[in-house]
Amino acid sequence: MLFSSGYSSPHPQPFRHPMQITRIDFQMPCRLRPVAIKAAQGLDNQVRLKFIRRLPKAGFCIKHHRLITLLHSLRKLNQEIPISLITTDDGNEYNKPEISHVISQNQTADDLTKVTASQFAEQYRLTLLPNTKVDAIEPLSKTVVCGGELFHYDKLVLATGASAIVPNIAGHEWMLTLNSQREYRAAEPALKHANRIVMLGAGLIGTELVVDMAKAGKPVTLVDLAESVLSNLMPNEVSARLQSKMVRDGILLKLGKGLTSLKETASGIQATLSDGSAVETDAVISAIGLLPETTLAKTAGLNIGRGIKVDSSLRTSDPHIFALGDCAEIESKCLPFLQPALLSSITLAKALTNTPSNLMLPAMLIKVKTPSLPLQLAGETLGEHLNWTINFSANGMVAQAFKADKLCGFVVSEGGMKEAFLLLKQLSS
Ligand SMILES: Cc1cc2nc3c(=O)[nH]c(=O)nc-3n(C[C@H](O)[C@H](O)[C@H](O)COP(=O)(O)OP(=O)(O)OC[C@H]3O[C@@H](n4cnc5c(N)ncnc54)[C@H](O)[C@@H]3O)c2cc1C
Repeated sequence: MLFSSGYSSPHPQPFRHPMQITRIDFQMPCRLRPVAIKAAQGLDNQVRLKFIRRLPKAGFCIKHHRLITLLHSLRKLNQEIPISLITTDDGNEYNKPEISHVISQNQTADDLTKVTASQFAEQYRLTLLPNTKVDAIEPLSKTVVCGGELFHYDKLVLATGASAIVPNIAGHEWMLTLNSQREYRAAEPALKHANRIVMLGAGLIGTELVVDMAKAGKPVTLVDLAESVLSNLMPNEVSARLQSKMVRDGILLKLGKGLTSLKETASGIQATLSDGSAVETDAVISAIGLLPETTLAKTAGLNIGRGIKVDSSLRTSDPHIFALGDCAEIESKCLPFLQPALLSSITLAKALTNTPSNLMLPAMLIKVKTPSLPLQLAGETLGEHLNWTINFSANGMVAQAFKADKLCGFVVSEGGMKEAFLLLKQLSS
């Protein structure tokens, strides 16, 4: 049986492609029938006739806001499958990595929207339920529960993403997170009026954001327990070039220090660091990492590690439920980047349409979007067992990591980035 629906009330109103008729499935398990009947009572005859004529064969219920590749691949394989998408956000399509440049480009969160929810639903012929939270999954009856309403699925894809971690310190309620368009929109007034900003976390996202804020003329302080920026991605000898550039661009680095508390003052917020020093600021952002969003999967009894564990066809421990993106754990790894999600989407589209396919993840390029000194890296770039060869020139840097004399990773910057594809090829050979 299929996904689609049985929603018992018109609230929230889904965006539905005109060709896709909501089906009430009368073969639902008995305990779902009251919902189905209530919904059927709300349908006019015309819709019911159409429903009977257009009985769909199978369907998926998907939660995610950025599924272009999956939807595109699915629609290429099958035009007819009813697809339903439920998301807590507004359903507009945006490119999350562009959050890194909103401030310097003088944009607003709304400028990130590429395609509106209704256009998106129409383009991929989906039933889209925006601003709707899935509260529970019931694998036995193959239903998801949203605020008392039940939706039946044939196959379910979880793409619930990850949540930005906020440290549990005094005054943590003052911290902003920028892990989605919605979070950015909520933080926008504070960021716009902030003359001083503290960023906690010098990882990929924190570093990109402070460089952008400094470019926009905002005085920023970057705080991290590690002694160098991007310390989870590369050794300090390799990140040093970017770090020096950040200092030259006016970013105040407070490295080797943690944030211990935040306190409101008459003129803003006082951030106290682990060495006892204090920084006066107007806004504090947490970018200390992401926690895969596994709450639903956990309560549904799926196997969880750090993320939702999936096999090489993106299937969870329940044969009818799949997971994709930041919430998924593949081969004991969580990969919160777009390229693995993109490759996973192609494999998943095949798995959902019953074409056997196994995910193969090649060496992938990670881009650090710091325009004044951009970096690209791939492979294994962290660990004491690596031997590094680092070549600096006026044009940039090419740093190569070797293990037993074999290239196992690299980091390139500026002009050195033209070597990236050749090095990537060597890694894959
Ligand atoms: C500032 C920034 C810059 C980045 N730059 C890059 C980059 O340059 N390159 C790169 O590869 N990656 C980058 N990333 C990471 C990349 O954006 C993410 O890996 C990707 O967006 C994750 O997609 P996702 O669909 O798994 O999760 P998300 O995009 O977080 O989507 C999860 C969706 O699930 C919804 N949801 C969660 N729980 C529920 C529920 N119970 N019911 C209904 N809906 C629910 C959420 O509302 C959300 O819409 C960046 C991230 C940020 C924040």
